[in-house]
Amino acid sequence: MESLIVNIVLVILVITLTILLFLRQRQLKEARPLADLEKVLESLKNNLWASRNDGKIQAVASNLSDILINNLGSDKILFFRKQSRFMEMNYVYGLKNIQRAKFRIRLTKKLMEKLVENDLLRHPEQLEGLLNNDLQDLMRRDHFNLVFPIFWMGNLFGVYFISTRLNVDHPIIKTFLLFLNQNLSVAYHITRMESNNQILKTKVDNDHRKIRQLEDEKAKLAEKETEDDPGHLIEMFGHRRVDELVTGLFDRVKAGLKAEKLMFVSRPDEKNKSNLKYMLGVNRENIILDGEEFQNVFGKLKKHQVYKVGHLQDIEVSNRLTKHVEREKLDQFSTFSLADGEQGLLFWAGRNNDKKAETRLLGRLEQVAWRAMVNAREFEKVEEKSYTDSLTSLYNHRYFVKRLNEEIQRAVRYNRTVGLLLFDIDDFKLYNDNFGHQWGDELLRRMGRTLEKSLRSIDIVARYGGDEFSIIMPEADKSTCGIFMDRLRNAISGTDFRDRANGFEGRITISIGSAIFPNDADNSEKLVYCADMALFQSKDMGRNRSTIFDSELIKQNGSR
Ligand code: GH3
Ligand code: MG
Repeated sequence: MESLIVNIVLVILVITLTILLFLRQRQLKEARPLADLEKVLESLKNNLWASRNDGKIQAVASNLSDILINNLGSDKILFFRKQSRFMEMNYVYGLKNIQRAKFRIRLTKKLMEKLVENDLLRHPEQLEGLLNNDLQDLMRRDHFNLVFPIFWMGNLFGVYFISTRLNVDHPIIKTFLLFLNQNLSVAYHITRMESNNQILKTKVDNDHRKIRQLEDEKAKLAEKETEDDPGHLIEMFGHRRVDELVTGLFDRVKAGLKAEKLMFVSRPDEKNKSNLKYMLGVNRENIILDGEEFQNVFGKLKKHQVYKVGHLQDIEVSNRLTKHVEREKLDQFSTFSLADGEQGLLFWAGRNNDKKAETRLLGRLEQVAWRAMVNAREFEKVEEKSYTDSLTSLYNHRYFVKRLNEEIQRAVRYNRTVGLLLFDIDDFKLYNDNFGHQWGDELLRRMGRTLEKSLRSIDIVARYGGDEFSIIMPEADKSTCGIFMDRLRNAISGTDFRDRANGFEGRITISIGSAIFPNDADNSEKLVYCADMALFQSKDMGRNRSTIFDSELIKQNGSR
């Protein structure tokens, strides 16, 4: 009896051991990292080449899917691509009749945090409660056992959900998956950078094309002028600024008329209340003729005819103008228009009495002025556009560089200082990640508007790039800069940037750095470098701070 029991126990033991051994074998088999290591490595290498050679995101993503399917035993794959505050189902493998819209993922702050936390690979269960119910049910039903988000430098591009027969916790598999993941993340990052660059390049190309067109036009006009002019009128087209052109033009008029004094009275426009656009040897006194009065005089005169000032009496001109002309001893006048709608009257006192020659000269100069003016106005428009940041409407980096150099030159000439502030929004990436880039853009626009309100009228604010802004403060010294920095910081952190539309409830803070020319640096590049160092210090010390550059010790100024 006893031996029977022993035998039975032994048999049971043997059976149990055999089953355990069998299960262990299966487990080992399943857990075997990769069926064909060489093949997987080859595929990985090809994928790397693909992303390195043409960087096309579709090619890299499709290679990744092939590797997952063929070498890593994945039978179901879903890829959701980030579209502002949602993630849309972008790729499906191994599942039929999927209604993509049903599974759309809302990108909440919590989900975002979960996705970009340190461990890149996770189990769908870890996202329980953060995905919609349909997607959660699908994960369970189809045994999805792996999630990996695609993100790089804080930007989330999408997320993969995978069902695989492999043991995803096996260190070798984990390493491979991480490797694949990084590869794809970088490819996405590069694609995005390239598309940003492309947009910028197109903008710059367009501006350049317009400028080239203007140059061509100028050359053509100049060519035409040479035919009937000895050449000195051509330089009129060299003026790109309207005020420079006006000065250059009247200098030429004065020389041509051999005039000692000259005064140009233009038709007043709404913006320019004053009529006086140019005077030489005449006392500075505003002559105000309203539109009607001006038209009254202008309408009674023949084009380009040279009149003696006595004629003013005949056409009943306002006393003020007549008196002024007499007092200044101007003795002749004529109509002279700068461009369409920019009519004017030209008064002068001169020695040349050849009326015919004067009339011819005025006619010719007016013609040239008219064309050069159209050119200069067009150029100013293009230039203004090429100096504006399209998102915030502030000045852009190009303008900042140009203007800083100009201010520094001015400071050298008049022995003055220039303060430079650089500041950067704190944790802006997080804002972008939480609410999407469109809301990020909106915040930058609002920041632009807030800044314009906080500045002195002589300060120049520009978007330096990304979430970084610069302020040039002519004549400011360390103490003015210090006071202003803290005021600005408080103005921003005190501004209510809350937004009901996106649920943002927090405050926005900035970190600032400043440097002074010529105390800290003797040229613009060095000055920017010093202000940047100070800004870096503000970030390093915990953000929402201002730092004044100091060559020995970057001093903390202000605190949280
Ligand atoms: P820090 O406090 O260190 O400044 O952190 P941060 O998160 O603000 O990061 P950082 O200044 O280094 O990066 C700025 C981010 O701003 C990077 C990029 O995602 C975002 N960004 C740059 N330009 C734009 C833009 O034109 N629009 C939007 N929405 N985001 C931008
Ligand atoms: Mg920032």
